[in-house]
Amino acid sequence: MKKTYSLMIHGGAGSVANKTSSLESIKKIVEKGEAMLRKGASSLDVVEKCVMLLENDPQFNAGRGSVLTHEGKVELDASIMNGSDLRAGAVAGVVGIKNPVTLAREVMDKSEFVFLVGKGAEKFALANNIAFEKPPYFITPQRKEQLMNTKKSNHMTLDHTIKDRKFGTVGAVALDLKGNLAAATSTGGLVNKNYGRVGDSPIIGAGCYADNETCAVSCTGYGEHFIRMVMAKTVSDIILYKKVSAQTASELAIKMLINKVKGLGGVIVVDKYGKIGKAYSTEGMIWGSVVKGGEVKAMLG
Ligand code: ASP
Repeated sequence: MKKTYSLMIHGGAGSVANKTSSLESIKKIVEKGEAMLRKGASSLDVVEKCVMLLENDPQFNAGRGSVLTHEGKVELDASIMNGSDLRAGAVAGVVGIKNPVTLAREVMDKSEFVFLVGKGAEKFALANNIAFEKPPYFITPQRKEQLMNTKKSNHMTLDHTIKDRKFGTVGAVALDLKGNLAAATSTGGLVNKNYGRVGDSPIIGAGCYADNETCAVSCTGYGEHFIRMVMAKTVSDIILYKKVSAQTASELAIKMLINKVKGLGGVIVVDKYGKIGKAYSTEGMIWGSVVKGGEVKAMLG
């Protein structure tokens, strides 16, 4: 098989506001990832880097600019997975971590665990010199207003209305020149989340999955639906057992999501051949890609 590389990233599914500047950011980040892959970087380094850059951009619901919890705090979730050996790392409900995806990577590389949560994960971060930031770094005026409006409408559901629901979660999937696949996902979760709620994003198999035999997957959407569908692993299983393309697998998985749990959200996929796939049940999804070393694209839809 000819050596090639591909990359796909997303900035969430839903009705995406402020499209132009989000699309510009997505394009720039894909360009950076593309340059890394072209020069031979591993898919794992590239998905971590792309998600880190998305976390640093306050337009997306991950890292800086994340949605607020019921108490007005930022609690972050992230995961990363390596397709060549199925190693994975994840963190949930962490406070003050500048780049949760890097902490997830650290959990994968430097601990014997896969998934750390809350205070324990923060303690691990401290011990491993992971960067912290104070609350004002994470909290934007738009997110304060969003929480206020959500509370006003007395929604214990986790965003304004179904129609307006935005999932600005971020993710990346990549195939590198050595044929290795990797995936990463990062989020602030859903607006007004309460009681330590955690969605699919940090759950390996639900919001993130990578296996060199099949594909790499990152999800965005209403986490409860994605957990119940074990969505990312479902996409991988469809490819494994049905031998279909990344695009067909994405569409079949979203069909199942709708039929079984009336699920809301989307998936991005890169398969072992470097082909990409995407599908969503929301109004839109913001994404960018480079397929087999070709042209860099950034799109809404
Ligand atoms: N999946 C995320 C969650 O439920 C939200 C999102 O995709 O924006 O926490």
